[in-house]
Amino acid sequence: MTIGQSHLFTPGPTPIPEAVRRAMNVAAEDHRAPGFGALARDISAGLRQIMRMERGNVFLFPGSGSAAWEAAITNTLNPGDRVLMARHGHFSVLWAQMAERLGLDVELIDVAWGAGCPVKEIERRLGADKDDRIKAVFVTHNETATGVTSDVAAVRRALDMTFHDALLFVDGVSSIGSIEFRMADWGVDLAVTGSQKGFMCPAGLGILGVSDKAMQAAKTATMRRAYFEFADMANLQDDGVFPYTPPIPLLHGMRASVGLLLEEGIDTVIARHARMATGVRAAVQAWGLEMVAEHPSLYSDTVTAIRTPMHIDAREVIAIAYDELGASFGGGLGRLAGRVFRIGHLDWVNEGSLAGALSMAEMAMWRAGVNIELGAGLASAQRYWSDGKRRDRPRV
Ligand code: PLP
Repeated sequence: MTIGQSHLFTPGPTPIPEAVRRAMNVAAEDHRAPGFGALARDISAGLRQIMRMERGNVFLFPGSGSAAWEAAITNTLNPGDRVLMARHGHFSVLWAQMAERLGLDVELIDVAWGAGCPVKEIERRLGADKDDRIKAVFVTHNETATGVTSDVAAVRRALDMTFHDALLFVDGVSSIGSIEFRMADWGVDLAVTGSQKGFMCPAGLGILGVSDKAMQAAKTATMRRAYFEFADMANLQDDGVFPYTPPIPLLHGMRASVGLLLEEGIDTVIARHARMATGVRAAVQAWGLEMVAEHPSLYSDTVTAIRTPMHIDAREVIAIAYDELGASFGGGLGRLAGRVFRIGHLDWVNEGSLAGALSMAEMAMWRAGVNIELGAGLASAQRYWSDGKRRDRPRV
């Protein structure tokens, strides 16, 4: 038994703000009642602002981010369609696996785990595709497994430069609602996310932003689908009515969380994440440890994946943090298992909560035998976060 408060520092699910938790505490209600539609309409309107959509549709499917991956694919593509995907971390690998399982012809680009989406190679492949066989390009905006953010705008430019008509799919599961995401400006056709990261709710909703072009593709796409049919969700757009029973408390939570993000302001939310992440990275530097992300231009502002020294199994660090300190950190996924632990710094986080995370990470590493000085990383982050904030006092 761990006594005292437990602490969640995983990159999703993330801590749930008290206001969101309270909003979910509702009596059972009729999802076909006349006034019920306002709930989904409010959420969709907020999501449009957060995803910076000008046109197109927002869909909320019961499920998680993976369900939204599947809905995006099956509604807009045809069996055997060629799609171009880069694999550079656990989640891009899983998305490619799903695309293959669903019967797409997946053209893969494998790059190092820690690299970003290889835009130049994507541009080269698109340029070489003279018969327009590639129907979609898939980009994992924020690889949660490696702490790498890729340049979606650059992939859009690659499509434009090669005059290619492929749809642009973007996995924004650990980016949307936390870091810069511009559906309209970047010409994203299918944006995918879930309720348990940027939206500070429990898992249970797969969220999609769908462009007009993707809606058009959905009219003729022949992949098999039933539960995740966009057309069945048509009433969600105008009337807020679901084709089946939605997870009602979760929708109340989503309305509250979207409200919190908009009240803070999207630009402020993005700036807060950048500031939180920079403090965490200052700590990693002070520990003398390496991040998985290969280059500072790739550093994610929602999650930092940290390599433990060769002789230390990162699983032990995570287990010590959990058993002895009541703190959950993310583990290394796939081929990074045992090599990496991850600190989530997204959503309802501030300097205080992250100072706690760094302090606990430091204790767990030290106890596991990592050669660090207790307090070194925390002090470095504290200095960054406190820079310029010291009040001037007259000397007495
Ligand atoms: N894509 C990314 C980048 C993720 O981080 C995750 C989950 O962590 C997923 C997809 C899968 O989402 P879910 O677990 O909600 O199905």
